[in-house]
Amino acid sequence: MPKNPALEQRIKWHKEHAKFCACREMPAKLKAEIKKLEKSKK
Ligand SMILES: [Zn+2]
Repeated sequence: MPKNPALEQRIKWHKEHAKFCACREMPAKLKAEIKKLEKSKK
């Protein structure tokens, strides 16, 4: 189970959203969290 499902959901939402819409920018904080998550997955 993910440590932080809410965060993962937000990341997933932003990633999907960014594919076809640029109405909101991904917050720098969220970007940093994505980096952290991707690092820990490898
Ligand atoms: Zn949008």
